[in-house]
Amino acid sequence: MSAESPTIIPFDHGIYAIDTEFAGTQMMDASHLIVDNGEAAFVDVGSNFSIPVLLAALDKLGLTRNQVRYVCVTHVHLDHAGGAGQIMQDLPAATLVVHPRGARHMIDPSALYEGARQVYGTETMKQHYGDLIPVPAERTLEVHDGDTLPLGKRTLSFLDTPGHALHHYCIHDSKAGAVFSGDTFGISYRSLDTDKGPFIFPAATPVQFDPEKAHESVNRLCALNPRAIYLTHFSEITAIDDLAAQLHGDLDAYAAIGRRHMAEKPDTRGIRSDLKALFVRRLAAHGCDFDDDTLEQALGMDITLNTQGIAVWSAKQFKASPTTKV
Ligand SMILES: [Zn+2]
Repeated sequence: MSAESPTIIPFDHGIYAIDTEFAGTQMMDASHLIVDNGEAAFVDVGSNFSIPVLLAALDKLGLTRNQVRYVCVTHVHLDHAGGAGQIMQDLPAATLVVHPRGARHMIDPSALYEGARQVYGTETMKQHYGDLIPVPAERTLEVHDGDTLPLGKRTLSFLDTPGHALHHYCIHDSKAGAVFSGDTFGISYRSLDTDKGPFIFPAATPVQFDPEKAHESVNRLCALNPRAIYLTHFSEITAIDDLAAQLHGDLDAYAAIGRRHMAEKPDTRGIRSDLKALFVRRLAAHGCDFDDDTLEQALGMDITLNTQGIAVWSAKQFKASPTTKV
């Protein structure tokens, strides 16, 4: 629960989830570690403030820093890649594996920082992210759709998976029958598990959310027939087909909300109110009868981010609409 005693959840096939303790919250943001035959890879690393926790986790698992061969960032949103520059300084043998559209933002993070500052504000940036550290270009490796990398005795395959972001890949680990999905297969906090199973919903973070592409990427991951999917928020889910059906339903609902508010400058309060109503309905069906405070505490931040992402998408639909007068 801190750098001294990191929370490590072990799974089969040398896979571990480590709680990055992002934004001081427990079990919200995971880094995964894949260990095979003396080699290790991190998948997503949280923010700068997560890095001492991840290094302590290596120690606890009896791994040296030199054994880490790859730092994989599924995409360059800062709860996944904000600490990449820092951890690359701490892991001398590692290569940063990044989507071709994300690489330049890891090498020069100034635009990434500014983009995030516009969404979150200066104070939150200082509090939750700190200064982003550039990664030397020669230590980065861009992976394209279908590329593979060896790790110990297994092979990691990379899939280009837009929908949440255009700079997003997922990793298929055929030895484990698993996929590391970043935010492509939505968000599912373990605190919302009930006897009905996990609660899952799509992450529509601005500014590249695209429901159609998100449907396709979810289908692509399902076609791999994975035994488990490891989400960054938060870790292992199984019963993939059921959860995919929920994601598809929600993506349609998000798009319907976006279309309902389609305008040059969409009414974000209206979108948030519609989105919140969707969550209330879905949570009730899931067996979570939350009052307003509990709902806002559990999911308020996600609802706000999804509102912004839907609003950006909605404005793009307005501009593309044949009925739009220009
Ligand atoms: Zn993201």
